[in-house]
Amino acid sequence: MSSTNRLKELRDEIDPINLQILELLNKRAEIALEIGKVQQEKGTQIYDPQREAEMLTALQYANGGPFSNETISKLFNEIFRATLNLEEQDARQAILVQRKQPDQHTIIEFSNGLRLGNDTFEVIAGPCAVESYEQMDQVAAVLAQRGVKMIRGMGYKPRTSPYDFQGMGEEGLKIARQVANKHDMMVISEVLDMSLIPMMDEYVDAFWVGARNMQNSFLLRALGKQKKPVLLKRSFGATLKEFIYAAEYIMASGNEQVILMERGIRAFSQWTRNTLDISAVPLLKKETHLPVFVDISHSAGRRDIANPLGRVARVSGADGLMVEVHPHPDVAMSDAKQQLDLDEFNSLMDDVESISMRQKQSV
Ligand code: PEP
Ligand code: MN
Repeated sequence: MSSTNRLKELRDEIDPINLQILELLNKRAEIALEIGKVQQEKGTQIYDPQREAEMLTALQYANGGPFSNETISKLFNEIFRATLNLEEQDARQAILVQRKQPDQHTIIEFSNGLRLGNDTFEVIAGPCAVESYEQMDQVAAVLAQRGVKMIRGMGYKPRTSPYDFQGMGEEGLKIARQVANKHDMMVISEVLDMSLIPMMDEYVDAFWVGARNMQNSFLLRALGKQKKPVLLKRSFGATLKEFIYAAEYIMASGNEQVILMERGIRAFSQWTRNTLDISAVPLLKKETHLPVFVDISHSAGRRDIANPLGRVARVSGADGLMVEVHPHPDVAMSDAKQQLDLDEFNSLMDDVESISMRQKQSV
């Protein structure tokens, strides 16, 4: 037989073997997916390094060559990695926050016509904390003029030091409610502890979970039992997976109205309070069906870069931004360095709106 013929014959032998391996790989993947489902039901981890080590040992023991044990390990490690990816992808599909179809969008509607999560770009604004009726009223008047329909009505502040201003408490919520009613706005406010929910429910239109409480599963579950929307901020130390699962706690407890907010993560930047992880926006939009907001105040911790960050938030595909506004930021009782004064807020809005118009024209 000529060597050309011999080559063809050998190649003809290889082709069906490839198909057999292919079939076996997919058969193996199907069984692995079943295993993943059982593990989810049992609540155990999909990744089981001990099981992988046992399989590799068995394969090396059975290996008769010509592949070395090292090569066999490499090949099977690739199979294990691919299988794990598949199982994790499948597990994500099973969670409620995960986007199931490209056009699946949660839209949250409020009684004053505000809609979060549709094609518009909404702004949530207001002082870091409620300090007085006059302060809230002055801010709300300017916000209302610019079409802002939701005000921060913060009665309780999570402060680093217990000696710093902790918020006006219920008195602050009363003021926020009064001012919001006057200007036809919705009130959103941070719940620091689940015991505050019934009282706060009297005053607010939406609850807010701060970065420090993102993984407080008792609080998340309690808010999951409420009828009002919940805005969940990303913790400064949380991965996106942890953030998504925190939102899942709220949804799995029965509340589907969840808004996600990126507020900066802790990195090594010394010139900003946190580092705005803008990639979180397209990733959260891609992975979940929930509205995604960007906090341009706590991410930067400084007001001088509010406008560029606002523009960035707009073009990132976010459903809106959150910004702190105070009539006299320098004498604010919290976050004095980052709050915008009323003129600066107007300038931010001019900037952000100019981008919206340009974007709309180009579509
Ligand atoms: C806030 O927005 O009032 C706040 C305290 O922010 P964070 O929870 O992101 O620190
Ligand atoms: Mn603040």
